[in-house]
Amino acid sequence: MTIRPLIAGNWKMNGTAASLDEAKQLAAALAESPAACDVALCPPATLLAQMAWVLKGSAILIGAQDCHGKDSGAYTGDIAAPMLADAGASLVILGHSERRTYHGETDAEVAAKVEAALWAGLKPIICVGETLEQRQADQTLQVLTSQIAGSVPASLADAAFAVAYEPCWAIGTGLTPTLDQIAQAHAAIRAALPGQGGAVAPILYGGSVKPDNAGEILKIAQVGGALVGGASLKASDFLGIILAL
Ligand code: PEP
Repeated sequence: MTIRPLIAGNWKMNGTAASLDEAKQLAAALAESPAACDVALCPPATLLAQMAWVLKGSAILIGAQDCHGKDSGAYTGDIAAPMLADAGASLVILGHSERRTYHGETDAEVAAKVEAALWAGLKPIICVGETLEQRQADQTLQVLTSQIAGSVPASLADAAFAVAYEPCWAIGTGLTPTLDQIAQAHAAIRAALPGQGGAVAPILYGGSVKPDNAGEILKIAQVGGALVGGASLKASDFLGIILAL
């Protein structure tokens, strides 16, 4: 059973049309030095279609950062999964801690979004992770297991998806868990995932991954790639992470 690693860049609420130059540079560099994994860029929704256009024919996949749980309807400002697929996305990040924290997304809402993404043919990257208080209270593994139980619907047992372990306290802070802590968290997540889909889903690590720490993190046996925020905005930094695998 082989698990194909995935390294995905989450641009968050950053980027305008001018930023597509970074995507072009990354595609050119990967054409010269092909990656040993799948590579994705997840720009803001406003750039999806343009990025799909400029990356046409390249090896880089395009992902969105969220979707609604319904296919269409009166939900002003929201974007449905089929719309993201229509704009060129093949992946979607769901349940990112910034969505859970700032938009109050619950596990049940994340699970509904996962189902919507699957129906639209998008591969979900489902994010889970503990807060600093939960880690300090020794609740990390329990929190992760409970988030997986609530956010990963049973239908994923036969589907292609990825999970990202992202400790909330490591996102954008420059802090990272120890290599042992990452390995333990990933093992607990693997054990909680359903079916054959769960056996082959890459489990990404996310939280302050940079070119200089990517090598040691990506070497951990249970780590199947990375979800990268800040360091994915510059092609040269993101390339350094991709080539560390
Ligand atoms: C993220 O946004 O998912 C993330 C991991 O951010 P950063 O790499 O900036 O910590």
